Amino acid sequence: MKHLLTTSAFTLSLLASAMTAQAASYKLCSVAGGCTSTGSISVTSNYTQTKYPLVFAHGMAGFSKVGPADYWYGIPKDLVAGGSSVYVTQVASFQSSEVRGEQLLSQVQNILAISGAAKVNLIGHSHGNQSIRYVAAAIPAKVSSVTGVGGPQTGSPVADVIKGVTTIPGLGPITATVLSGAINGFFLMIDAISGQGYRQDALAGMDSLTTKGAAAFNVKYPQAMPATKCAEGAYTVNGVRYYSWSGTGHLTNVLDISDAALAASGLVIPEANDGLVGRCSSHLGQVIRDDYFMNHLDEVNQIFGLVSIFETNPVSVYRQQANRLKTAGY
Ligand code: CA
Repeated sequence: MKHLLTTSAFTLSLLASAMTAQAASYKLCSVAGGCTSTGSISVTSNYTQTKYPLVFAHGMAGFSKVGPADYWYGIPKDLVAGGSSVYVTQVASFQSSEVRGEQLLSQVQNILAISGAAKVNLIGHSHGNQSIRYVAAAIPAKVSSVTGVGGPQTGSPVADVIKGVTTIPGLGPITATVLSGAINGFFLMIDAISGQGYRQDALAGMDSLTTKGAAAFNVKYPQAMPATKCAEGAYTVNGVRYYSWSGTGHLTNVLDISDAALAASGLVIPEANDGLVGRCSSHLGQVIRDDYFMNHLDEVNQIFGLVSIFETNPVSVYRQQANRLKTAGY
């Protein structure tokens, strides 16, 4: 009888631990705050169960979480449900590529320490591409893969135009002051609300994304950049696997109020683009696809999941990429 009781107690504890293992969460990280777990998500498969954690790096004007405005809308949650270990990082919304890269680097080192993982898979959107490329160049032995989404690798003509406006003699300095003051204030407010308080520098951020600024970055960090315009880059550099994808859509969902602005800004880019980044500019390493019917915000399933219903859902594209990494042994 005692033996039976012990056996059932053992079985119960096994059941309990199995049930515990079914719930997981993703982590929100920042330079000052470390990483904290958020939510309780049921793990329903192992489709996206990569060997190494997935670390997400947001773009300009990004923030990892402000109330319901999750930058990677619905994406971390979906990947955790598929068995991924997910870390959503946060750097200054507006800063130079190098400053943002350093802020990501310190978080990646913290993530490596707390997770015990030997490496990480880095995924970046928009200006987050430069951040993940910076980290992969700094600590290649600790990075299994880099996935660039909608990346302005060779800059954005939209940044060139804004930069142009701010350098018109007489008008320029005033416009620059007003513009940067407004932008700095706005994003400082958002970061203050989300509890981070990064120092913002709109002009440094914008400068990094001009054609000239991006070219200067590429000279220092050339890893996996195409040798000729619109080609693919090397698939593997210093043991790090590189991938990229992007979109060429503008008006993709009639309910999304951001579409019109992206359609307008896309007019200044002399090639197919997602509203902010040209198709060829997004190329890094292996190009998975560069013409999804997605605009720059659709690429992170924004705003609030308002994307084209005639295209693969962006969440599915991330899910497929995580499975690709898993299959490759990353
Ligand atoms: Ca959208």
